[in-house]
Amino acid sequence: MTKKSKEIYASLLKDSVLNVPEYVPGKTTSQIAAAYGLDPNTIIKLNSNENPLGPSKKVIEAIQKEAENASLYPTADASNLRRALTEYTGFPIENIVASGPGMDSLIDALNKLFVGSGDEVIVPVPTFTYYGISAAGLGGVPVHVNLNPDYSLNVDAVLKAVTNKTKIIWLCSPNNPTGNVIAAKDVRKLAEKTNAIIFIDEAYVEFSEAGSLSALVNEFENIVIGRTFSKAFGLAGMRLGYVIAPVWIASALLRVLPPFAVSILAEAAAVAALGDQESLNAAIEMVQSERKKLIASINEKTPYKAYSSEGNFIIADVSPKTSQEAVDAFLRKGIIIRSCDSFQNIGKNTVRITIGTPEVNEKVIEAFEFLKNEE
Ligand SMILES: *Cc1c(COP(=O)(O)O)cnc(C)c1O
Repeated sequence: MTKKSKEIYASLLKDSVLNVPEYVPGKTTSQIAAAYGLDPNTIIKLNSNENPLGPSKKVIEAIQKEAENASLYPTADASNLRRALTEYTGFPIENIVASGPGMDSLIDALNKLFVGSGDEVIVPVPTFTYYGISAAGLGGVPVHVNLNPDYSLNVDAVLKAVTNKTKIIWLCSPNNPTGNVIAAKDVRKLAEKTNAIIFIDEAYVEFSEAGSLSALVNEFENIVIGRTFSKAFGLAGMRLGYVIAPVWIASALLRVLPPFAVSILAEAAAVAALGDQESLNAAIEMVQSERKKLIASINEKTPYKAYSSEGNFIIADVSPKTSQEAVDAFLRKGIIIRSCDSFQNIGKNTVRITIGTPEVNEKVIEAFEFLKNEE
C-alpha cells in the first residue's frame, strides 16, 4: 500500500476555505514573555480588552463547585443560563440563544443561517474582523464600507452598498477598535430601508453610557443583538456569548448550533456572574472613570491623540510614530498593547489600549513619555 499524496484530497477543500482571511488575535502573556525575554508575572496585558479585575469570587466558587459534574452533559439549550439572562436582558427566554465558543460562535451561526456562496455581507470598517472572516468561510463576500473620518457610521454609504445579494449588515456598538456608539435612529433607518438582517455587536455595552440598542429587537423582525461574557463579566477564558433575537431567528439558530453548545462550567460561571451585580458594577465604574482620566492624560500630557470611547479600551493616534514603534516601546516597559494595523481603514499609526487599574494607567502614561523621548 502506498500513501497517496495529500494533493489528491486537498482538491476536495472548498474554494471558500482557501479565501478565508486570517484573524489576527492579541498575543498571550506567555507568547510575549518568550518572544521578548520578559518575566510573564510582571507583564501588563492591555491588548485584548480583558477585565483586569478577573472573575468574581462567586464565579470562581461556582466553577469549583460545578467541576465535579464535568462528566455530565449540560442541558442541550443552556436553559438555566437563558433563564438567568431573561432577568438581565428583560427579554423572554424565546428571544435568547447562548453558545460557545464565545459570541464568535453565534456570529458564525448567524452567517450559517443566511450566507451562502456569492452572498454579500456589509462590514463598516474599521471594526471587529471576525464577521467577514466567518462569512468568507461560507463562500460569502464581505463588502467593506468606510466609517466616516470621525469613525461614526456612514449610514448612506451602507445603504448604497446594499444589493439584492446583501444578507447581513454587521454593526458594532460600542465599536471595536474605535470605541464609538451607533445612534438608534441610524439603525432604524437601515432596518427600514433594507431587507437585510442587522446584527449589532454589543460586546462592550456594559461600559457604555449610551445604553443598549436591544429595545430595537421588539421593533423589528430583522435586528439581532450580540453579547458576550468575555469583557465586563471577566470570563473571556470561558468562551461564552449570547444573542437577543426575534423568535424566528432565535429558533433557527438553535437548529444550526451544535447541541450542548455551552459547557457545564461556562454555564455555572455565567449564572454566578449574572448574580453578582456588585462585581459587575465595580468593573464598570473602574472602566468609566479610568477611561475618562486616561483619555484626558494622553491628550494633555503627551503629543498623541486619544479618541473618546464607550468601551473598556481606547485608541490613540501616535503619529508621527508608527503603531509598531509604539507597541515595541510599550513592550520594553512591560506593557502589551494592540497595533490596529490588522484592522482595515485605520492606517498604520493607531494603537488600541485596554483600560486598566489606576496604577496601570499611570504606567501607560509613562510608556507614552518613553515613546516620545525615543529616537
Ligand atoms: C471580544 C469581542 C467579541 C468576541 O467575544 P467572545 O464572546 O469572546 O467570542 C465579539 N465582538 C467584539 C467586538 C469583541 O471585541
